[in-house]
Amino acid sequence: MESYVALGAVVGGTAVVLFWVSLVVWTYRDIRDRSQDLAIQVLSVFLVMAFSLIGLLLYLILRPRETMDEAYARSLEEEALLREIGPDSACPSCRRSVEKDFLYCPHCQTQLREACGHCGRPLSFSWLGCPSCGTGRGAPARAAQPASGVATADIPVLEGLPSSAGKAAKAAKAAKVPPSL
Ligand SMILES: [Zn+2]
Ligand SMILES: [Zn+2]
Repeated sequence: MESYVALGAVVGGTAVVLFWVSLVVWTYRDIRDRSQDLAIQVLSVFLVMAFSLIGLLLYLILRPRETMDEAYARSLEEEALLREIGPDSACPSCRRSVEKDFLYCPHCQTQLREACGHCGRPLSFSWLGCPSCGTGRGAPARAAQPASGVATADIPVLEGLPSSAGKAAKAAKAAKVPPSL
């Protein structure tokens, strides 16, 4: 009869010890996912080792809320969200809010977008062509070149003006000089 009691005590004691060990192991794995700080890891495991179930309860109350994987995923999500909002709603120069179809920042006059050379829709600088009419981004640049050609064609005329103005001035001088002499 006494041997049964002893056996029961051994089995029961072993179960309690195994339960205690499993609590400690679970705590060790859990805190390893939540903190890289060795002191916090040791403290958490020690808490459960020393106080068993009550220690585990304290650990569950005090442990970091997120695992490191969860915190990393959340930081990535926030970063993506910021990047998405950033270029559309804030001027890259003065950081004040601007609307999606603004060509220029109304606060600092920085050019935010280019107008389509064909239909005038605002184009993001990262787009290759217009989403409304399909005109390529190269089109406005080609249109700009004849304009510069016109400008160079204008230069002789502009040069002509000062020289003719100079001649007129000389003529005026010449006209004025004889009477003064
Ligand atoms: Zn601005
Ligand atoms: Zn267009």
